[in-house]
Parts: sequence; structure tokens; C-alpha cells
Amino acid sequence: MATFDEWLDVYEEAYEAIPRDADLACPNCGHHTLRLVFTGDLDRAVGYASFWCDTCLLGIGISQAPIPDGAVARDIHLPREERLPRIPNFRLVY
Ligand SMILES: [Zn+2]
Repeated sequence: MATFDEWLDVYEEAYEAIPRDADLACPNCGHHTLRLVFTGDLDRAVGYASFWCDTCLLGIGISQAPIPDGAVARDIHLPREERLPRIPNFRLVY
């Protein structure tokens, strides 16, 4: 299984590519189904980054991430069920 550091390397590439989809391979299963979604305070542009693979449902979370322009971001002030897009219940790699 890929380590946290391997996930972090791919996260940084995906982050740098925003608003473009970097179309990177999952460090765990190799599928190009990685998703990066922020949940946070959109006025302050800071939030929690969820980065996961839709195929193997593994990923990482990064706290207090600056939310770049053009990122997929969900407003933390909305009720949980109204936040879109939905984030699946993926397993966090530590
Ligand atoms: Zn995967």
C-alpha cells in the first residue's frame, strides 16, 4: 500500500495543477480517478483538503490548506448534506 509520503507527493502535483485536472495516477492502484475537494471557509479561502481515489477509496486529508482559485470547494457553513460534491467515505492513509 502507498505510504502517506507517496500520497503527499501526488497531492502536491494535483494541487499545483488547479484549476486544471492533472490526471495523475493513484499511488495505490494506478487508476486515474483521483479527486481533490476542499471543504472550508470560502471567504477566508482556507479549508480541509480531501484527496482520494474513487477506485480504491483510499486517500489523505490536509488541514488548513489554502484553497486556490478554481478549486472544487464546498462551503463548511452549509449543512453537511447540502455540501457538494459529495465525498465518499474513503479510508485515510496516515
Ligand atoms: Zn486508487
